[in-house]
Amino acid sequence: MDDEQKKPELKALCMRCRDANNKPTMQTMTDIQVEEKEGKGGSKRYSAKGKCAKCGGNMFKFLSKELADELRA
Ligand SMILES: [Zn+2]
Repeated sequence: MDDEQKKPELKALCMRCRDANNKPTMQTMTDIQVEEKEGKGGSKRYSAKGKCAKCGGNMFKFLSKELADELRA
């Protein structure tokens, strides 16, 4: 039954969702798009772009290679 592969949940700081102290809060990222860029010395850098599940604002987060692979699987 439950054979749909679940992707790991990604959380990132949302600049729009502030707490009572006006600090950005961690929110779940939806519509995740993993990006791969050439970094210095030929190494790859991974990042994720997506939307805040709560307010729909744009989010961005750097990823480890492991996490990027998991999200793209
Ligand atoms: Zn938000």
